[in-house]
Amino acid sequence: MTAKLLKGRRLARQLRRRIAAGLRSLEARTGQTATIAAVLVGDDQGALNYARAQSRASGNTGIGYQLVRLPGDCRMTDAMEAIDQLNLTAEITGIILLTPVPPHLNLTALQWRISPAKDLEGVSPGNMGHLLADTGEFFTPPTPAAAVALLDSLDLELSGRQAVVVGHSAIVGKPLAMRLLNRRCTVTIAHKHTRNLASLTTGADILCVAVGKPGLIVGDYVKKGAVVLDIGTTYVGKTVLGDCDPNSVGSKAGWLTPVPGGVGPLTTVMLMRNAWRALARQLGEAI
Ligand code: NAP
Repeated sequence: MTAKLLKGRRLARQLRRRIAAGLRSLEARTGQTATIAAVLVGDDQGALNYARAQSRASGNTGIGYQLVRLPGDCRMTDAMEAIDQLNLTAEITGIILLTPVPPHLNLTALQWRISPAKDLEGVSPGNMGHLLADTGEFFTPPTPAAAVALLDSLDLELSGRQAVVVGHSAIVGKPLAMRLLNRRCTVTIAHKHTRNLASLTTGADILCVAVGKPGLIVGDYVKKGAVVLDIGTTYVGKTVLGDCDPNSVGSKAGWLTPVPGGVGPLTTVMLMRNAWRALARQLGEAI
């Protein structure tokens, strides 16, 4: 391995301290605190694990966390009503819809029901529109925010760089591509139907991979010295694997995020940053 490891934990610790201090200061001035409501429909184990991690991270930053559980067979109208209720509850300052939701529910319609002012994952059309228009307002989904923060930690001039984003989900790939475009990278988005992926990725100064297929990217796919952000996480038993083969990619890249310990630790903290921002904006303050 010749690549330097781009780890997220130190950055995550620094940011966590800033968020906690910011929230304490808000509370001292206004008496208000942030509380996240995370909606879980059914009992998916991955979603429950994620909720536990979020709850821990919330506690560490002084944010309240309520898990709102709905039965797996609940009707679309019941799920919509639960979100409406949270939108209207003043003490709830941020909302997350945990995924997956059962297949009989319309995930996008539920995500779009979340009030843009409380939409901590940036999945409502209002927030996506702001991202597209590059207004700097509202909430960027946490994973793309974490990826860009890691790039910024390298003091790299992003403008003019060739960036390839592999994966085009609404919560990771698309918003990350947009964030990089807004920073004036020349961005290519690749997906399952992309032909000859390696011909694109070998031209990338910045390669971001968010697919969920371990070993998809090997050294031959990578430009020498490139910055590679491996966002994929796939659990094989208790082991978590990224989308990149760490040995061969590590011998070509200049920087590589490890899995675990790269983008992941920073993602949850970015969610907390959105929770802080949500409260501040609801109180009429800009941060
Ligand atoms: P997703 O919704 O399943 O999206 C996966 C994307 O990969 C889709 O756009 C899909 O394209 C594309 N894809 C599938 N096979 C491909 C192939 N062979 N070549 C190129 N592209 C391919 O998943 P997601 O929510 O974006 O998450 C992606 C990965 O990141 C997962 O492993 C997830 O666990 C991980 N993740 C990590 C963090 C973190 O903090 N580290 C946070 C969120 C997600 P099509 O739609 O065309 O099939």
